[in-house]
Amino acid sequence: MFCSNYEALESALTKRGFIVHSVKDAEEARQLAFSLIKKDESVGFGGSVTVQNDLDLYNRLSERGNKVYSHWYASDRSRAQDDAGKANWYLASTNALLSDGRLLNIDGTGNRVASMVIGPEKVMLFIGKNKFVDGGLDDGIARIKRETCPPNARRLKLDKLPCGITGHCADCNSAQRMCRVTTIIEYPTRAIKKFHLVLIDEDLGR
Ligand code: SF4
Repeated sequence: MFCSNYEALESALTKRGFIVHSVKDAEEARQLAFSLIKKDESVGFGGSVTVQNDLDLYNRLSERGNKVYSHWYASDRSRAQDDAGKANWYLASTNALLSDGRLLNIDGTGNRVASMVIGPEKVMLFIGKNKFVDGGLDDGIARIKRETCPPNARRLKLDKLPCGITGHCADCNSAQRMCRVTTIIEYPTRAIKKFHLVLIDEDLGR
């Protein structure tokens, strides 16, 4: 079960204007993506272990013939981020899904959170059940600092960051600091015509 009070969460998300899908695992989430995204549509990617590693959607959609943009695979990262933000779809995850249905994210560059706010017109976030936080903003931020930042610091080889070294946030002042902007999406903005949330009954990403 995605969370103990799934009906209340689904109702809160729907009232906020999100389109909610519930799937059992990564394979089902991938099939859903393939059914919603047309073959001739372009797809931009935010940095996401869930989407790019667990679901492997960049490679799978590229093999199907979709035009795909991801700064993870591009030599010109800035150009790829720009192109991703202008595609038909934007795929990512969220750092935390709060029990009242708000989406909480912390970003370093800002491209990922910007695209969830100002478009593409169709956004789809893939959310493993480990991203659900049975609580509010403080609990969500604590989750991100505890579960997301330390492994990301190590994955990105940001060797000056206290969280990567000790596993704990020190509210650092490092040039490598990842936590530079925090967003709370309460409702989809008017720029986003369809904001899909795929709730996956499996632990995925960080
Ligand atoms: S503020 Fe610094 S130490 Fe804390 S989680 Fe972010 S990058 Fe890591």
